[in-house]
Amino acid sequence: MNIISGFDKLTLLNYPGKVACTIFTKGCNFKCPFCHNSSLIELGNSSYMYDEVFSYLNKRKNILEGVCISGGEPLIHKNIKILIKNIKELGLSIKIDTNGSNPDMLKELIDDNLIDYVAMDIKNTFDKYDITTGCKVNIDNIRMSINIIENSNIDYEFRTTIVKELHNKEDIENIVKMLNSKSKYYIQNFVNSDGVLNKNLSGFTNEELVKLKNELNYSNIYFRDL
Ligand code: SF4
Repeated sequence: MNIISGFDKLTLLNYPGKVACTIFTKGCNFKCPFCHNSSLIELGNSSYMYDEVFSYLNKRKNILEGVCISGGEPLIHKNIKILIKNIKELGLSIKIDTNGSNPDMLKELIDDNLIDYVAMDIKNTFDKYDITTGCKVNIDNIRMSINIIENSNIDYEFRTTIVKELHNKEDIENIVKMLNSKSKYYIQNFVNSDGVLNKNLSGFTNEELVKLKNELNYSNIYFRDL
C-alpha cells in the first residue's frame, strides 16, 4: 500500500476529544488556491512507508485513541478501506477529513462502520465552488456527501477555510442555511504560508472576524480562531 505521504505522531487538536495521530494520504482531486498541503496534491512518491506507520501504531495503540486520516483527499484511493480496516483492528477510532467529492466511498465506509468521525470541507457556496477549488466540481457529489453525513449516526462537522478574496458574509450565511441546524459548522481563517499554492491570498483581520461572528447569528457556527 503506497498512499501514505505524511505522518504526524501526536495530535491533541485534530480529533475532537481524542489523543490521536494523523496519517496524510497523497494526491487530491481539487486544487484549492489556499491549500496548505499543496505538496500532497500530486500523486508523487510516498515518503512514508506503511510498515513504519503500523509499527508505530502497534507500539502506541494503548496510548492513542484514534487516527485522523487527512490529505490530500483520502477518499480518492480505492484501497483506503484496507488501510482503515487495518487501523480499526488495532482498536483505534477513525476520523476522516474529506472534501466530499466521493459520496459513494464515504457511504460505503460509514455503512461498514469503518469511520467514527467525519470532518467535511464545504469550500464555498455552490456557485463559487469551481473558483474556490481551482477545478470543475460535480456539485451533486458535494450535496450527496452532506446528505449522507447528516443522516448518519456518526459524529461529524462541516468546515470552511475563509479567504478574503473568495468568501464574504453572505457566502457563509448561504452555506450554514443549507445545513441541518444541528450540524456543527466551523469557520477557520486562512493564514498565508510558504506551502500555499496562491501566495496573493489573504485571511481576515481579527477585527473583521469579530464583526463576522457578531453578524452571523447562528447557534451552530463556531469560529476556530476566536
Ligand atoms: S481539497 Fe484540501 S488537500 Fe485538496 S487541494 Fe483543497 S485544501 Fe488542498
